[in-house]
Amino acid sequence: MAQQYGEHTRAVRTSTVAPEAGAPVRVPVYRTTTYAFETSQDYADALDRGDGYSYARIDAPNSEAFASAVAELEGARLDHEVRGQAFASGMAAISTALLALTRAGAHVVASRAIYGNTHSLLDGLLRRFGVETDFVDITDVDAVRAAVRPDTALVFTETLSNPGMLVSDLPALAAAAHEADALLVVDSTFASPAVCRPLEHGADVVLHSATKYLGGHSDATGGVVVARPDLADRIRSARIDLGPCLAADEAFLLHRGLETLPLRMARQCATAAEFAAAVLRHPAVARVDHPSLPDHQGHELARKLFDTGPEGTRCGAVVTVTPRGGREAGTAFADGLRLATIAASLGGTHTLVGHVASTSHRQLSDEALRAAGIAPGAVRFSIGLEDPADLIADALRALDESPVKE
Ligand SMILES: *Cc1c(COP(=O)(O)O)cnc(C)c1O
Repeated sequence: MAQQYGEHTRAVRTSTVAPEAGAPVRVPVYRTTTYAFETSQDYADALDRGDGYSYARIDAPNSEAFASAVAELEGARLDHEVRGQAFASGMAAISTALLALTRAGAHVVASRAIYGNTHSLLDGLLRRFGVETDFVDITDVDAVRAAVRPDTALVFTETLSNPGMLVSDLPALAAAAHEADALLVVDSTFASPAVCRPLEHGADVVLHSATKYLGGHSDATGGVVVARPDLADRIRSARIDLGPCLAADEAFLLHRGLETLPLRMARQCATAAEFAAAVLRHPAVARVDHPSLPDHQGHELARKLFDTGPEGTRCGAVVTVTPRGGREAGTAFADGLRLATIAASLGGTHTLVGHVASTSHRQLSDEALRAAGIAPGAVRFSIGLEDPADLIADALRALDESPVKE
């Protein structure tokens, strides 16, 4: 169905069952762990073919429907098949994919700016099992090329980084990886397929924390991996052995959320761009990070790689604001907001906010923060679906009232 329809049609139609009279319009929740067969031979045949349903950890209708829907959105413009697989969380997706695609002695090149738990997985657990990772400045493609070796299994990056919203030059990274027969694996959580589809730009594997934009309502935890069949088979076999299956109820909610993904993303990204521009004009603000701003690292790359949409403003809905006055100014700003909620996570309908240095990146010293390009006062906004004027007024008022002035 993919090619001929627009993004909203694709997003909505992926959650329907076959259009038969009397059939449910939506994939019902299959709350069962096991499936019956007529004969022993039928059961054996199903296991041989590896299709259909036998046991919920292996495959189940709700997680399969959700993962296939994400694959349809990520692969909408590809001329080859890609398959989606669902996981119990974003980290379950990432850890399973990394275990499936590496081995003892393998080398990985990863962005220094990746999600904290992905960093600790590569730097801790996987290192203990003999996978060696070099962390590099992913915006420096020459540095990536220099780090890639003949034994490099994969290059790992995020489409948009947290909290700086750095944009990865996916075609250049794919070329650097492929020259050494390595894979490009992309965590596209911050972008979602409504903003960027990394497989169209040379990535071999794309994965998500579905907990964020795909689900979109801060009410279900999950993850998804999309890859071509040969890689999907390797990941599937690791998934079955490791067991991080997505529960049916969670899959149902994530799939329902996915229907409005392009609608939500268009609106949230447009609000984020408006918010970024308005807050940047306040005299108490030192810096705003968002690719819609002309002097941001990712401004030109976003125009090239992102589906900026008819609004022309789709480059992510996370905005990082650094008020003047350091760490205290950051916490005072976050604490002074009334509309935005202080909370972990992102990608939901409510605007969430966090002072980066004391929350998501609290394990980093001020020096390490600086090395990562994060100011001690940085405050990350995950822009939701509220009226842009209300969010802007709340932020400007909190900045006016901030007790810390430089
Ligand atoms: C949240 C997040 C993850 C981890 O996802 P969980 O669903 O919390 O396991 C991975 N990568 C990025 C970029 C994230 O934002």
